[in-house]
Amino acid sequence: MFNKIKFKVLFLFSVFLIVSCTKTYDPLTGKKVYTLLPPEKEIQLGEMYVPLAINQNNGQYPDKEVRDYISKVGFRIAKVVPRRLPYRFFIVNSGEVNAFALPGGPVFVNRGLLLVLNNESELAGVLGHELGHINARHHARFLEKQYGIAILLNILNIALAGKDYGTLLMDISKIGAQLLTLHYSREQETEADILGVRFSYKAGYDPRGLLETFYIFKKLGKPNAPEWLLTHPLPDTRIKNVKKILSKYDLNKPLIKDSPEFHRIKNKILKTKPSYEFLKKAVKAYDQKDLKNALRYLNQSIQIFPINNASLTVRAIIYADLKEYRKSIKDAEKAVQIDDLYFMPQLILGYDYLKIKNFIKSIKILENAKKLIPSFPDTYYFLGLDYEAIREYKKAIQNYRTALQLTDGKRGWEQDAERRLLTLQRLLGY
Ligand SMILES: [Zn+2]
Repeated sequence: MFNKIKFKVLFLFSVFLIVSCTKTYDPLTGKKVYTLLPPEKEIQLGEMYVPLAINQNNGQYPDKEVRDYISKVGFRIAKVVPRRLPYRFFIVNSGEVNAFALPGGPVFVNRGLLLVLNNESELAGVLGHELGHINARHHARFLEKQYGIAILLNILNIALAGKDYGTLLMDISKIGAQLLTLHYSREQETEADILGVRFSYKAGYDPRGLLETFYIFKKLGKPNAPEWLLTHPLPDTRIKNVKKILSKYDLNKPLIKDSPEFHRIKNKILKTKPSYEFLKKAVKAYDQKDLKNALRYLNQSIQIFPINNASLTVRAIIYADLKEYRKSIKDAEKAVQIDDLYFMPQLILGYDYLKIKNFIKSIKILENAKKLIPSFPDTYYFLGLDYEAIREYKKAIQNYRTALQLTDGKRGWEQDAERRLLTLQRLLGY
């Protein structure tokens, strides 16, 4: 008994020692600070949610030149920030005016943001602000406070080992949802503004870009309030603060305000805007179960912009609904080729192959989709059907169980999964 307690105390103590030794620097004051979540774990956590962020924003913008441009501007700023992290910059298909970051390095801008910006220094201001949140560890501090270090490390250990996640999947799912809608406090916004101005200036940009974006967002106002304002509150005091911060900088020295490249890229995005408008109409028609018009709009959308992976994905969903699996496979495969981090087309593709009874191929695709977003219930249900079909009953049971654990009860397959689970358990004598 005593030994056990002692062991437990020792164990806790050693864990505490390991994690409490992580040292980093406060980007504002330059002072040493100690963190609970070690940077490499913070990085892994952020990485884990990149596919979720991409999926919730309808995939990465498919034009490589546009993606490369966003990365180029991003890295120019990332080079001058204090925290050395594996930064990555993404542009996603969503038309909402928004930008956001994940802990440890990933930064996202929406297609919709680029549509309302007027010059490169404004983009630099927004990217600088998001890098400010990452550098001030705002996400990491939220996670430490909300979950505690033990559960975070546990999730990572299990997720990275690719083991059966069990009940931890619920935590993985909850943390993901929270990270993607993280509301910053006023203090954190002020801190990110100070850093955003500092970083963009240090990178050679006119730091007034951030202020300009505030005016753009304010003007957009209601009823089309940019999504960015929901997670990054923008009271007038923030505008005043940034003006005050700017007064400390030499704005007469040569600074980058704009580039021809910005406008070339923005024009490219503008040209594909009608394609996304047709997609929006298609989704609305689909929600009203008007598949015929949904398909018509999607055909138009894809004709304008043949690599629109968001539209290809929705068309693949509709073809699958219509049991036209070959056509669905063609669209989904193309979407996967364009963006292999986009979960949804992989799920559809796995479903299509299940339906045409190519179980092995379906398993291969769905197991990969599972790695991208481990908390999506349908993947497990489809995998259950696949494994059951090839008589791998233990794996089928495991997948049905997880599917039922994760479902919100409204997926439509719950009764079937329960029935199959019971039958297989009886068969195996569980
Ligand atoms: Zn912010």
